[in-house]
Amino acid sequence: GKNEGKGQYRFFDPALSNTLNSRARLKQSMLEAIERDQFTLFYQPRVDVHSGELLSMEALIRWQHPELGIVSPAEFIPLAESTGIIVRIGEVVIDQACAQLAAWRDAGLRLVPVSINVSPKQFLRGGVQRQLSAALHRHRVPASLIEVEITESAMMGDHDEILAELAALRALGVKLHVDDFGTGYSSLSQLQRLKMDVLKVDRAFTSELGNSKEGKVFFQAIVSMAHALGMSVVAEGVETGEQLDILRGLDCNEVQGYYIARPVPAAGMQDMMQRRFLL
Ligand code: C2E
Ligand code: CA
Ligand code: CA
Ligand code: CA
Repeated sequence: GKNEGKGQYRFFDPALSNTLNSRARLKQSMLEAIERDQFTLFYQPRVDVHSGELLSMEALIRWQHPELGIVSPAEFIPLAESTGIIVRIGEVVIDQACAQLAAWRDAGLRLVPVSINVSPKQFLRGGVQRQLSAALHRHRVPASLIEVEITESAMMGDHDEILAELAALRALGVKLHVDDFGTGYSSLSQLQRLKMDVLKVDRAFTSELGNSKEGKVFFQAIVSMAHALGMSVVAEGVETGEQLDILRGLDCNEVQGYYIARPVPAAGMQDMMQRRFLL
């Protein structure tokens, strides 16, 4: 009931909601969160569309706030980007992903690549390749186990800095994913010129799959062109068995979404690595 005590109204406690309310406070608490190790990675599996075998996973950041609980990246990534703090948070993400791979290796697990999200601001500031190669070395993890996701819109600017970082990452042996594909205006030939390895088709297109013939035709066209250009295709945001069935028919490569699994902490991912076949 409504009057069961103060604990139920935590979110509306002015002292707490103020914590994240003002930009200045949020900025300050993000800096403290870095110092206090409050950022952590969750992991979401990507599986082979036919066999359900775990092929790779995406690392997604979470903020374990002492009073607010788990804060989603939507709440803090935009301000982290506009203030430049994303560069330091990005370094935490890179280090944690490599450390986690090393821990799983030491536990004797069969490893699959982990992809990390890198924002355009990190590329523009430079140093992503340097941070990543240092972390790989520090944790003795091969570059083939880390993949980088960059949004389609971030690549459209044609910034020399971004292109240079992408080339450096590729030279290191890191695979490159185009995130949220279909939401920007890049052409597939442009992406192929940039030697992108994987297209991650935005959730908006996956959710259209069961709804209209056009949705399916559009997705099919993306898959055929991507394959013809040597890129593989991931469908994001797969939420139903019907969507999965259609994606099997389209020969999409990998699927990711709540239907297979939600993002989970490392321990939950370890269980899935041991199960290996997730469908
Ligand atoms: P994204 O890279 O497009 O990540 C996919 C988002 O969709 C994730 O939200 C994931 O939890 C969610 N998702 C996965 N499957 C489904 C599904 O079947 N249905 C629905 N409705 N959603 C699904 P999340 O974890 O809240 O992350 C949101 C965004 O925050 C990410 O979008 C990415 O842009 C950003 N982000 C997350 N982690 C990082 C990071 O470490 N660094 C940077 N720079 N950005 C990050
Ligand atoms: Ca992503
Ligand atoms: Ca995405
Ligand atoms: Ca997105």
